[in-house]
Formats: sequence, C-alpha cells, structure tokens
Amino acid sequence: MCEFQLDAQDAKLSEELAAYLPDKVFDAHAHLFLKRDFNLEAAPILGELPNKGGIDFWRASLSAQVGEKRVSGGLFFGWPVLPRYDMKERINRANSFLIDELQQNELSNTRGLLLVANSSNQSEVESLLDEEYIAGFKPYASLNPECGSAPDIHEYLPEWVCQLADECGLIVVLHILKPKALDDDGNITEISNLCTRYPRMKLVLAHAGAGFNMYNTIKGCKRLNKFDNLWFDLSAVCESQTIAALIKAFGSERLLWGTDYPVSLRKGRFATLGNTFVGIQKDTIKGSVFDAVLLGLENIRSVLQAAHDCRIRSSEVEGIFYDNAAELLSSKLK
Ligand SMILES: [Zn+2]
Repeated sequence: MCEFQLDAQDAKLSEELAAYLPDKVFDAHAHLFLKRDFNLEAAPILGELPNKGGIDFWRASLSAQVGEKRVSGGLFFGWPVLPRYDMKERINRANSFLIDELQQNELSNTRGLLLVANSSNQSEVESLLDEEYIAGFKPYASLNPECGSAPDIHEYLPEWVCQLADECGLIVVLHILKPKALDDDGNITEISNLCTRYPRMKLVLAHAGAGFNMYNTIKGCKRLNKFDNLWFDLSAVCESQTIAALIKAFGSERLLWGTDYPVSLRKGRFATLGNTFVGIQKDTIKGSVFDAVLLGLENIRSVLQAAHDCRIRSSEVEGIFYDNAAELLSSKLK
C-alpha cells in the first residue's frame, strides 16, 4: 500500500477529526510537483508519489483525509527542493506546470504563487503576473545554491520581488530558516522591516513562522509586533501549542490552514526536540512507527486542539480553515 493512502489508523483519526472540522477547507500551502525534477535524495520518502502531482492528485489525497465535500480550493506553488544543476530550468518548468494546472482544473478557488530565486529574470516573472490565477511569489532558500543552511531572509528574498508585491498587492509566502525561527533577533528585525517598508505586500510566514519547535514560537511571537499585512500559514505544524501561541499573540484571523502537500501524505510528524525539531517518519527513528498516522492528520489535530484550548468560536475555526484565506485572496477569488 502507498503511504499516502489511509490505513485503518488514519481512517479512525480522520473520522474523529471530521466531527470538528468546518464544512469548507481552503489549503493555503500546497506544492504541485513533477517528480522527475525533485531532489529525491533529499526527500526519499517522496519516491512513492506518482510522477505527476497535480491538482487532481492533491484533491483526491486531501479528500481522503478531510472528506471530498470540504475541499474548496487551494493556493499552490512548485516544490522548492530541487537538484542544484539546471536550477533555473527546473524553476521555470515548475512555474509552467503550476500555470497549466491552474488553467485546467475544475475547482474555481485555485490560485498560485511563482517560485522565485535570486537568479530569476524580473521581466520574465513580471510577464507571468498577467495570468489571472497568479497571486504572488514563493521565494525559498534552497532555490539559491549560494545560500547556506541558515540564511538571513534578504539572502533569498530579492528586493524586486518585494517591490512588485507591494506595487500589485501580491502575496509572498516566506519560509524562515534560521534555527530559532521567530525567536531570532535577525528574523524579527527583517520581518518587521518588510511589513513596514512594503505595506501592500501580503507577507505570509509559512509553517507558523517555521514553528516546528513550539518554544521558539511561544517566546518569539511575544517579541514580534502585529502588522496588518502579516499572516501565518499553519501547514505541516503538528505542535498545537505553537498554534495556540499564535492565536493568542496575533488573533485567529491572521492564521491560514494549509497542508504542505505532498508532505501531508507521509506518515509521521514534526516534533519539538531540544532547541530544534525532528521530522519523525519511516526509517528515521528507532522502534516501530506502526502507530504513526499521516502528517496531514497530525496537523489538523493540532489546529483543532489549539482552537479548543484557546476557546475560539466556531466562526473563528471556519476562518482558519477557509474564510481568512478567502479574504486574503479576495481580489483573486471568485
Ligand atoms: Zn511547503
């Protein structure tokens, strides 16, 4: 059996969670992929996926986790962990595949972000913005071979991308990478400067501001100011206390649920460990992972647990799963 299908453990948890999930979900962080362009050495677990991970496969696999009727749209972009050779061509192919998929699929609420790197050609990227489905950009450190493993934000977010996003009111989904995440002075300064200098740019910090270590988020989000143009997507985060800390600091209306598909299709979870985090998945820990469930379900469980612990209203839960993203994309959603 492929890992992305639900086994008995997953089916049981999925059924339990369904009792608390709102009627509509919008996936604010999903990667479309062509497996031939993956760096499978960096993520061998993804080798079991089909060769083409388009919107149809996303829809089918998410429907299995949350129920087909709930799946109401998504914000898509290419997979950013690519081999270092032919990087520019691979980024272009990922963006072309994204646009083809957005043009062809049957769901109306689907939008996309363009992968951008320091090597991206500004005028080529600008020409793609004419596409009605394109809502902004997804920079990523791994698309820039010159970046180390813990780069500053400005090392992989080109200035012209921020200027374009500001001019056109577009979204930038940003994965911060320094080890202390939100509890890092440099990250806090750069995020604050971006929100202030580019007030029309809609900055979304991916994975709850890389909140995989809950203590970094609990401490860090007390130090970061609120901004009208700052959101957090909750994709792949499996620590409910990370999400609860964000609800308390920024309000539920700043949070956008997402899957990080295809990451959501593997067994396991990300877990706080010491000052960092680990991704527990097949073959990476000693002992049996027989009891593991799909990461997507771990994520939904942590979001619902945080909502419960923070005693937010059901309308706020609906906001996290759909309405907040619909508002963020209001000029772009039908
Ligand atoms: Zn992602």
